[in-house]
Amino acid sequence: MAVEATPKPIPCRDDAKHRKLIGSVHPDVVPIVIHERVLEEIIDYSEEDMAREIGGFLIGGYHVDGTREYVEIRHFLPAVDARSQPASLTFTHDSWAHFHRQADQEYPGEMMVGWHHTHPNIGVFLSGFDQFIHRHFFSLPWQIALVVDPARCELEFFQWRDGDIVDCGFVCIYDECPDRQEAG
Ligand SMILES: [Zn+2]
Repeated sequence: MAVEATPKPIPCRDDAKHRKLIGSVHPDVVPIVIHERVLEEIIDYSEEDMAREIGGFLIGGYHVDGTREYVEIRHFLPAVDARSQPASLTFTHDSWAHFHRQADQEYPGEMMVGWHHTHPNIGVFLSGFDQFIHRHFFSLPWQIALVVDPARCELEFFQWRDGDIVDCGFVCIYDECPDRQEAG
């Protein structure tokens, strides 16, 4: 399934004060833009369970500004009834069904751009099973994964690059960004 990027200016494109590059962004792939308030929400949620893995969905859009494509994360929805164990997390049928209902109601027109889950005190990486989930459910070239280790205070994004799933940096947009109102 191909999804076309919708035109939208990159938030804070000309305003370096309100954005920060974290880590290193691969020059040949679609950059990830996340709003700080969403990142904080995800970190707060991640800290709710230090014993088991929990997860959720990243919501926003796949956009193009001129010729530059990017992915913007505007919202986060925790997964309901994700079956979690110390080192694996599975989205159940109910997780997906609940997500689609809630996303349609709260964020109409937005897309699922990726998924999030935690690795309490084991570090940030994608396990073989995580890669299986990503390949099967998040196979579009711009879809991303975020892993948070709430115990070690680490996080990392992962994205597609030449058929591989690689870790990558991202751009954080700060709340006082004037573009935010425009983005709704
Ligand atoms: Zn994992």
